[in-house]
Amino acid sequence: MLYTLQRQDLWQVFQQLRNSTFETVPGVIRIQGPDPGPTLGIMVMTHGNEPAGLAAVYGLLEQSALASQLKAGTVYLILNNLAAGQRYFEEASDLSFTAHYRFIDQDMNRMPAFIDGKLPGDSSELHRVRELLPIYQSLDAVIDLHSTSAASAPMLIEIDIGSEPLQIPGVEIMLRGILEHLNGKALVSLCNKANGYVLECGSHEAPDSLLIAQQAVWRLLEKLGMVSPRPHSSHPLAIYSIYRAVIFPDESYRLEHMLSSFEFLPAGTLLAQGAGEPIIVDRDSWVIMPPPRLKPVHPGSEFLYLATQSET
Ligand SMILES: [Zn+2]
Repeated sequence: MLYTLQRQDLWQVFQQLRNSTFETVPGVIRIQGPDPGPTLGIMVMTHGNEPAGLAAVYGLLEQSALASQLKAGTVYLILNNLAAGQRYFEEASDLSFTAHYRFIDQDMNRMPAFIDGKLPGDSSELHRVRELLPIYQSLDAVIDLHSTSAASAPMLIEIDIGSEPLQIPGVEIMLRGILEHLNGKALVSLCNKANGYVLECGSHEAPDSLLIAQQAVWRLLEKLGMVSPRPHSSHPLAIYSIYRAVIFPDESYRLEHMLSSFEFLPAGTLLAQGAGEPIIVDRDSWVIMPPPRLKPVHPGSEFLYLATQSET
């Protein structure tokens, strides 16, 4: 069953998840099936301004849907960036611009490398990740549900190249190779023994994003044999291979014009100018995850990505 949800519903399920604890860790619900099986983590709000994943949690909890249908294994519902999510729901009023609620101190999806088996550093996000790490490391599979600031079709992010992609109705695009272009490690990589799935469900506030998030978690539960499979057809995915993250050298840089998702830029296109060298596209490219603005909100972060397109 899929639900058409409003912001108020998401806020309600946020509070329900926030107020739940598993072994003293807040923001976690564990649901166990009658038989042994895989341990799946469903991670939501890794970025505080991306509530779509809460729709998936809503769908799993409503009428005890997951608890009654889970045949085998264990599912953890994990509210990742609890503090940033709280601030987003309490303070964000202009939902067309929520980038300031993405995190408290640092991007939770750009983790540092371990040093002597420990995550170094001190931030709201690192404290939260350390608290969740034992759960992350117990997972056999994980899905991290995100959304984008600009209008975009939903996109599956490929984590393990060559692994069979998750088939989700309405998701027809897969991004390949993005992990190596991030300014840090993706959070799912801390789930060190898990098959990882990352889904950009669509734009932050689009009603369709909430439906995609709900579909995705049921499909993954079916794929893992944790609930009874429902019939569905498979479809090819268009693959965009990321070859570059565009990071502006300094704050003087701005895009030449606003870009749209999957916009085609022929080789030689002038992308951005600033005090130093202009940024020129060196090959025929497609624009991936462009923010709806000319300059980054967080200087030094990946502002957008460039990809080539390959066959499905
Ligand atoms: Zn995100």
